[in-house]
Amino acid sequence: MARYTGPVCKLCRREGVKLFLKGDKCITKCTFERRSSKPGQHGSSRNRKESGYAKQLREKQKVRRTYGVLERQFHKHFTTAARRPGKTSENLLQILEMRLDNLVYRLGFADSRAQARQLVCHGHFAVNGRKTDIPSFIAKPNDVITVRERSKGTEYFKTRALLLPQKDVSSWLRLDTDTMTGRVITIPSRADLELPFEEQMVVEFYQR
Ligand code: SF4
Repeated sequence: MARYTGPVCKLCRREGVKLFLKGDKCITKCTFERRSSKPGQHGSSRNRKESGYAKQLREKQKVRRTYGVLERQFHKHFTTAARRPGKTSENLLQILEMRLDNLVYRLGFADSRAQARQLVCHGHFAVNGRKTDIPSFIAKPNDVITVRERSKGTEYFKTRALLLPQKDVSSWLRLDTDTMTGRVITIPSRADLELPFEEQMVVEFYQR
C-alpha cells in the first residue's frame, strides 16, 4: 500500500488540530495557524454536526496520522493492544510510542516521525548492536538504540550531534549525546505522554 505523499499540512486542517508533522517548521512557520479551515471547496463554510461515528473516525485518523502509520499496520497494532491485559486505549498508545521510528524521533535524532522513518529505513540505526531498518520494530525496556558507526561520519549526523544537547528527551528515555545512544528506561504511562488524543474513541471506532 502506498504511503501518503500529499501535503501534510492539509492533514492538520482536515483533523482541525496541529499534528506536528513537519518538525521545527510546525513551531516557526505553521500553515494551520494562518489557515485552519477544512480542506476542499466548501471547507470554510462546512459546519455540520458530527455524528458519534464521525467523531470516532476523526479521532482514529488523528492518532494514526500523528504516528504516520498506514491503516493496515494501525489496525494490527490495535489488535495487539486489545489482546494485552489492561486498557486497550493505553496499550495502543504504548505500542505506537515503542515503535522504532517514534523512538528515533523522541530521542531527537530526527525532527519529525516521517524523517525518523526514512533514517531507519536507510539503515542508520542499530538496536542492541544489531542493524535494524524496520520502522515498525517494537522496542522493549532496556533496549539500546544507537546511530551506527558508519552513519556517525555523515554530514547529517555530524550536524545532529551538535543539536542533540539542546533536545528535551522524554523522562522514560535516556540519551547519551556523546555516543549518540538512547535507552528505553520503561514503557511510558498515559500520564507521561502529553498527547491531545481521546484514545478511547479509537477503541469505540474499532469495536462498533
Ligand atoms: Fe501541521 Fe506542522 Fe503543517 Fe502546522 S506546519 S499545519 S502543525 S504539519
